[in-house]
Amino acid sequence: MPKLYLVPTPIGNLEDITLRAIRILKEVNIILAEDTRTTGNLLKHFGIDTRMMAHHLFNEHHEVPLITDRIISGENVALVSDAGTPGISDPGFLLVRECLKAGIEVECLPGPTAFVPALVASGIPCDCFHFEGFLPQKKGRQTRLKLLAEIAHTLVFYESPHRLIKALEEFSVYFGAERKISVSRELTKIYEETKRGTIAEVLEYFKRKPVKGEIVIVVEGRKK
Ligand code: SAM
Repeated sequence: MPKLYLVPTPIGNLEDITLRAIRILKEVNIILAEDTRTTGNLLKHFGIDTRMMAHHLFNEHHEVPLITDRIISGENVALVSDAGTPGISDPGFLLVRECLKAGIEVECLPGPTAFVPALVASGIPCDCFHFEGFLPQKKGRQTRLKLLAEIAHTLVFYESPHRLIKALEEFSVYFGAERKISVSRELTKIYEETKRGTIAEVLEYFKRKPVKGEIVIVVEGRKK
């Protein structure tokens, strides 16, 4: 039976690709890639010469029916994003939903995703958590923060470096400066860093240096 495979790719360190990910990427008929240049470099590194097709936020609505048709006609397809697991703050959901609707089998390989190592290493409870991903940048942001402030589970955010200070200042206002927080930067890369403390302490720390790289923020939930 042909399938849709969701294949996680490294979030920095290429050693984090799995043996199965390499095999599946070699075996499928086509790889759908968010950015064919980024994925092209990864494929080259692992000696994979499978054909790629662009699949991103701007063409997915148009492409999805064509892809389901290809799978139904017998082709195996793999979806990858630029880094990490497709569908996690990346395209993937729409294709999965439509494949399932069409009776196509969907399999997601386990593999890299940025929030899991950040959450587990945070020292903040990781048994129950809410994954928020990126907060809305403008409209709805305050409403969302007010709602999140009431959640008793650990909160997990993705954030860009140039918005980190703003986010920490808002967290201080909405969640309280004394809540525990952990900010992980550049996970699996050379300059990997995790800063833990209260929101006030971590805000002070990042105000003293230029913030660079990719970021995951983990915040303690509301005290019960
Ligand atoms: N699909 C990816 C995943 O499974 O984690 C997430 C893609 S999302 C477009 C990109 C965001 O993930 C970045 O802005 C950052 O918040 C987070 N991220 C990705 N790689 C990271 C890394 N090496 N260290 C810290 N955060 C990372």
